[in-house]
Amino acid sequence: MAYKIDASECTVCGGCEAECPNSAIRMKGDAYAINPDKCTECGGKFDEPQCVAVCPTDSISKA
Ligand code: SF4
Ligand code: SF4
Repeated sequence: MAYKIDASECTVCGGCEAECPNSAIRMKGDAYAINPDKCTECGGKFDEPQCVAVCPTDSISKA
């Protein structure tokens, strides 16, 4: 499973990209996107998804 970013809500602040332990978040077009092949939902590393925790616009949710 993986998380996904709602591009219509993302303000491209870059906060999530810096926090992802798997480098799963990259710019794609005009917004950030999560690579589902790299996203582990932060399992084994953090108790909560770090991207969700830092996103100021609640743009990230379960895919
Ligand atoms: S849930 Fe964790 S591993 Fe997945 S994109 Fe967010 S920060 Fe990266
Ligand atoms: S933290 Fe939220 S608003 Fe900022 S780049 Fe990531 S998805 Fe977009």
